[in-house]
Amino acid sequence: EVFMKAIHKFYQKSWQERLAILAQSQLLSDDEIKLFQVNGHQAELFDSLIENYVTDYSLPQGLATNYVIDGHEYLIPMVTEEPSVVAASSNGAGLVKRAGGFQSHITERLMVGQVVLEKVAEPAKLKATILAQEADFLACANEAHPSIVKRGGGARFLEVRILSESEGLLSLDLAVDVQEAMGANMLNTMLEALAQKIRQELGQEVLMAILSNYAVHSLVTVTCEIEPKLLAKGELSGEEVAQKIALASHVAQLDPSRAATHNKGIMNGIDAVVLASGNDWRAIEAGAHAYASRDGQYRGLSQWNYQDGKLHGSLTLPMPVGSVGGSIGVIPLVKANHQLLQIKDAKQLATVIVAVGLGQNLAALKALVTDGIQKGHMHLQLKTLAVKVGATQSEVTSLVAQMEKAGKRDENSARQLLAQIRE
Ligand code: NDP
Repeated sequence: EVFMKAIHKFYQKSWQERLAILAQSQLLSDDEIKLFQVNGHQAELFDSLIENYVTDYSLPQGLATNYVIDGHEYLIPMVTEEPSVVAASSNGAGLVKRAGGFQSHITERLMVGQVVLEKVAEPAKLKATILAQEADFLACANEAHPSIVKRGGGARFLEVRILSESEGLLSLDLAVDVQEAMGANMLNTMLEALAQKIRQELGQEVLMAILSNYAVHSLVTVTCEIEPKLLAKGELSGEEVAQKIALASHVAQLDPSRAATHNKGIMNGIDAVVLASGNDWRAIEAGAHAYASRDGQYRGLSQWNYQDGKLHGSLTLPMPVGSVGGSIGVIPLVKANHQLLQIKDAKQLATVIVAVGLGQNLAALKALVTDGIQKGHMHLQLKTLAVKVGATQSEVTSLVAQMEKAGKRDENSARQLLAQIRE
């Protein structure tokens, strides 16, 4: 009860006060409380980023190698807690590098948001009224955020969709050139200005105004072509592996059960780079899965075809990432990661991220149709298990070797083998 009282208006406390309250709460041991203590300078920074801030939560960052995209080779920071993601990514990219690298294609980069109108008596009539005033609406949006116009961006076009004639629901979609930002806040400001205009001038009720994460005007495509001889594995010829990869890709088009896992593998790579680049991975996830369902059935996001003696890979995704804005200018490591990536703008960052998705996918599919996923994974999983049972850095290698030799993967055996090593 004392604790509940102390936690009242937690958000008004300083982060040091919040820690002191936690320490008194008896929910945590002294050792656990120590885990919450962080560098004061960073804490102040992060306290300004989120609410009720108490500590930093860190995740491992690795660098994927071998990525050659449009003729440039990149070192790609990836943040993930999952073993084998960085290794598989570098491996997939290595194959593509030997085949000449990835190519990217972007036709447009606009962010879209919507003003949803409710209780619309005559949707078709209102649609026509709004479309007739498109120029006026675009000017209103630009006035709400004039600095983007000075940067060469701004509102570009309007669309109106009747969501339900009988329920009187209509969506006004605004497309904006957000230049180097992801643009969520910019869009939201513009959309609220439009909502206000609609209420005042058209006397129409507005349900909400918000950016859409279904960013189909920010599509990025990355492709690659691989000669089968690079794919040979064990007893399987390169042609056989290429055909099996193409078939696996087809299965992900047919079957949502497989498509979800196929896409999860793609997002293993994508999320890790989006996170390292300081972008909003929830936004990218939401857009990716919505795009995977664009024809009404959830399908694999990538396509692999074996044609004319080559394996052709292609991945298209909404990739509305920014090179400025959000936490990008705030978190110091994010700035360093942009420096590592050596990207010149948001479009280039988007191509790198989609290429990682395709590289990740290739590595996963190749493993699945040849050795199976566990072989490559197991070594890294065993390392995690070794750490979990308390192996020190110097003991991990020998414990993993012992476990592999004994063919054991469970925690009990790991403990026993560690005890034997220590005897
Ligand atoms: P910011 O609000 O940080 O806006 C970016 C700002 O950067 C611009 O307003 C602009 O300000 C400035 N800027 C400087 N240089 C440039 C340039 N070359 N091009 C464009 N802008 C530039 O971020 P975003 O609007 O991008 O929004 C991203 C954030 O919104 C993320 O943190 C995301 O998590 C969050 N968000 C996401 C939502 C969603 O996905 N549904 C919903 C709401 C928020 P100025 O022109 O004034 O100098």
